[in-house]
Amino acid sequence: MDLPKLAIAALGGTVSMQARNAGEGVIPTVSGEALLASVPQLTTLARVTVETLGLLPSASLNFGCLLSVLSWAKYQVEQGAVGVVITQGTDTLEEAAVFFDYLWDCDEPLVLTGAMRSAKQAGADGPANVLDACRVALAENSRRRGVQVVMNGQIHQARCVRKTDSLALQAFSSPIFGPAGLLVENHVGYLCPSVPHSVLPLPQHTTHKVALLEASLSADTLLLENILKLGYDGLVIAGFGAEHVSESWAAMIEVIAGKIPVIIATRTGSGSTAQHSYGFAGSELDLIRKGALMAGFLCPRKARILLWLLLGCQRQDELARYLNDNSRLQP
Ligand code: ASP
Repeated sequence: MDLPKLAIAALGGTVSMQARNAGEGVIPTVSGEALLASVPQLTTLARVTVETLGLLPSASLNFGCLLSVLSWAKYQVEQGAVGVVITQGTDTLEEAAVFFDYLWDCDEPLVLTGAMRSAKQAGADGPANVLDACRVALAENSRRRGVQVVMNGQIHQARCVRKTDSLALQAFSSPIFGPAGLLVENHVGYLCPSVPHSVLPLPQHTTHKVALLEASLSADTLLLENILKLGYDGLVIAGFGAEHVSESWAAMIEVIAGKIPVIIATRTGSGSTAQHSYGFAGSELDLIRKGALMAGFLCPRKARILLWLLLGCQRQDELARYLNDNSRLQP
């Protein structure tokens, strides 16, 4: 039987980590080829092309690397791959996933996975996650669903998923929306229909900068006072609660929003920003009046990526529309 073609790229992360010597910390050293040797069952499911595009801890990935990976993945689809799997570190998986999702215009699934336990640790989850991710990438019902994250038997939409635990095996969740699907006895099943998602053109330039600052109790305004001088092109604030900041931050945000786009998201880890509930200085009504935009359900990190991508293709005027799209995200 002619097996479907599947492309896999390894970027590093815990799934590719082991210690060089006993007693040392783990570092990314396991190539994509070696990773595949841990899932021999895959040869019965697909003809696999594997490449090691990087061996980095995911904190050291950057948008430039992700753009190269994206063009590699699109090339694999042009060459006949029915799906693409990318393995990487879990620390920035939620950001990489949404970055790709805003740029992935193929029907073929692009699936990201990683591991919480390194290759030699008891109960290493890498092989199971890689095999699950391949099953999702090969499944007919995964087509036209954009980018998905597969971890611990669950499938999550790129725009909803967050790393919500630092070390547990069940480290990923999609607050409010829940997983988009599950793997049950190797069967890929979805819990909700696919949501049409807006795709952006590739950025024409990549040197612009978007800052992300979190509001905290009794915080000074020094960083805010210097944002424009430092040459930032956009600002995301992870605000308190349903999106609130102090009166002194609100005054600075008004000055900044007069010059560059400012998005306010919630720092709570779940839920949407408000639009018209509170009226005090530093509330959403006040900040909207001062020129800031509300992130809706988009978390601060994903809002920063959206703004960076929009600035890169000079579509920042459409920011409100894109944020609004996310506020209406359906599970
Ligand atoms: N702890 C991380 C991981 O899960 C390391 C990284 O993100 O590279 O892969």
